[in-house]
Amino acid sequence: MRKNIVAGNWKMNKTLSEGIALAKEVNAAVAGKSLKCDVVLGTPFIHLASVCSAIDTTKTGVSAQNCADKVSGAYTGEVSAAMIASTGAKYVILGHSERRAYYGETDAILKEKVKLALDNGLTPIFCIGEVLSEREAGKHFDVVRSQLENALFDFSAADFGKLVLAYEPVWAIGTGKTATPGQAQEMHAFIRKTIAGKYNAETAGNCSILYGGSCNPSNAAQLFSNPDVDGGLIGGASLNADDFMQIITAF
Ligand code: PEP
Repeated sequence: MRKNIVAGNWKMNKTLSEGIALAKEVNAAVAGKSLKCDVVLGTPFIHLASVCSAIDTTKTGVSAQNCADKVSGAYTGEVSAAMIASTGAKYVILGHSERRAYYGETDAILKEKVKLALDNGLTPIFCIGEVLSEREAGKHFDVVRSQLENALFDFSAADFGKLVLAYEPVWAIGTGKTATPGQAQEMHAFIRKTIAGKYNAETAGNCSILYGGSCNPSNAAQLFSNPDVDGGLIGGASLNADDFMQIITAF
């Protein structure tokens, strides 16, 4: 079912003790509040097990930021979806533009990762979005449609229904340049329409589509007030509990 979600993406930040402290701070701040969204913390791999033990994961979900495209075996340095699930984490961010740009993750690789995440009961938070030159060339809808088609549209409607999507215009990530609420709504509506065209209106209506890209305490409420924006994937502003809480309570 469609839910509002605010998910933090800590990226490669925070030592283990700093990460546990931040997770506890967020968890304490959400405890006892009746929130209009689910809250997720996307931590580095090595934090997952400790963060899951340190907090109430029924109040604050925990996410990895990547998983391997292989089940297990001789893949030095990789972390499998099964390993992530064994820590108590319930989510995995996949297809982030930094993974696509710096680590060569293609739609074909991402399709394998999504499959393995689903096989292991994880909810993928799947990122899509165009770079600036693509938007300036008027190709942003085509880019996003092709990311959906190539990575996700081979899944059944039942499996697609287990995914969370995050529209993250790459030009807005970490740049302080946020998409306007109008630009976000326009793309989210397009994504929903594209899902309805491939599957059906029910699958499209049930899909949570988050916005990501320089979302912060001062613009979150406006972005989240759009009918097709179901929350946010938050990078920089998730590293500070007060800022993150202001975004969570922006609903
Ligand atoms: C992100 O990394 O997914 C992100 C949206 O980062 P930021 O909020 O810092 O732009």
